[in-house]
Amino acid sequence: MRTPVIAGNWKLFKTIGEATSLVSELKPLVAGATGVEIVVAPVFTALSRVADIAAGSNVQVAAQDCFWKEEGAYTGEVAPKLLKDAGCSHVIIGHSERRQFFGETDQTVNNKAKAALDAGLTAIVCVGETLAEREAGVTFAVIGKQVKEGLAGLSVDNLARVIVAYEPVWAIGTGKTASDEQAQEVHASIRALIGELFGTSAAAELRILYGGSVKPDNVKGLMTQADIDGALVGGASLVAESFAAIVNYGA
Ligand code: PEP
Repeated sequence: MRTPVIAGNWKLFKTIGEATSLVSELKPLVAGATGVEIVVAPVFTALSRVADIAAGSNVQVAAQDCFWKEEGAYTGEVAPKLLKDAGCSHVIIGHSERRQFFGETDQTVNNKAKAALDAGLTAIVCVGETLAEREAGVTFAVIGKQVKEGLAGLSVDNLARVIVAYEPVWAIGTGKTASDEQAQEVHASIRALIGELFGTSAAAELRILYGGSVKPDNVKGLMTQADIDGALVGGASLVAESFAAIVNYGA
């Protein structure tokens, strides 16, 4: 009943020319994919061109971040409504690289999520524990706080346009993937918490993606887990064939 989502985070890779080539190569490879939503997240400068090429296909476009103000004296920032204007339907918020290198907190994640939703975007809100936190046995507490504070004050209606991505920091770009069971138990805990906060039907409808070294050869196992509803893919989304193989995991 929950449509899976496969999202590719292109991070700080690809010129406009490379990004437009990648989406052009990707489109025919995923044209036959049904029952799955496909999203790609290029750098800001390539968004509008990639969105133009993706228009009319089953590939949707996300930004990798946004600010929470609509306009003003905020040099360097990009407002959610400008992302919509550029052709985005989604925005990634609170990726661990932004938390780690750019000082993002659960409060800024919350501000950004609210602003993105108000602008009509779907917010892909990322959460995840570090290796030290996992080893200290505080994974569930860390994730619980990130979910609770990141989504604080949202309405049940707004939650319908939220996708949560569970990305253990130790699995991002490292080649280490959480086992299917490790991922599933965290996803189940997120869904249970969403049930407490927003009600059981909102929880049943929420898509929760797994991210962290997802590749064509491990996506199937992850996708068989009851509470895993898709993937947020970094490295393997930079090559059309490997991203398409992940999208087509069920074929
Ligand atoms: C990511 O960037 O969100 C990610 C999960 O990267 P990778 O797939 O390379 O681990």
